[in-house]
Amino acid sequence: MPVRNIVCLFDIDGTLVSTGGAGRAAFETALREEFGLDALRGNVPMSGRTDRAIAGDLFRVHDIEDSPESWQQLRTGYLRRLPEALAERPGRVLPGVVALLDELQRFAHVTLGLLTGNIAEGARVKLSHFDLFHRFRFGAFGDVQRDRDGVAREARQLVRQHVAADHPADRIWIVGDTPLDVQCARAIGAKAVAVATGVHSVDDLAPSVPDFLVADLRDVAAIMEVWSAA
Ligand SMILES: [Mg+2]
Repeated sequence: MPVRNIVCLFDIDGTLVSTGGAGRAAFETALREEFGLDALRGNVPMSGRTDRAIAGDLFRVHDIEDSPESWQQLRTGYLRRLPEALAERPGRVLPGVVALLDELQRFAHVTLGLLTGNIAEGARVKLSHFDLFHRFRFGAFGDVQRDRDGVAREARQLVRQHVAADHPADRIWIVGDTPLDVQCARAIGAKAVAVATGVHSVDDLAPSVPDFLVADLRDVAAIMEVWSAA
């Protein structure tokens, strides 16, 4: 069945790929080594959040000034360590992802983009590691925004620029693995597919009431049917 003009914006971690903890490891090692900490305190939640927000929490917990300079230092340190962390860990492209992207790319009126809390360069490094980066035409990232809804608003603007100035918000589909992904879709009037391949189970995701909820992305036909009917 043909799919008409929709924009699909994919989250990265827990949705397209699992880095086997490489992202977290590179972030935490950078924080420890760049700021001379003996050990890390607390357990700052990362899932579904932007890198800028996570950094802000980590700075606060470790009594580091949350300044543009600190952020730049952590960012640079993280990016320096990320390639090796990815190479060291058994990460993987999540089930169904490649087949779904292949199917979507058959349709000229489907645009693929990214909507992620990752910093832009981190997203490029992660997705290049798994040979997926070239699949996406544009992306909204977590370099500046602390709130995922803000990243979604940037994505909305990018859709206007890259697709059509009058592209309807309800023809944007956000695919993500956390309640925050569904929430940020609502913030811009978009639709949401929630996928339970990250830390959240189907039962965890159901209360956020996504438009479509799946255990993983393997049933490409079922997802395409939802998008064809949209
Ligand atoms: Mg995610």
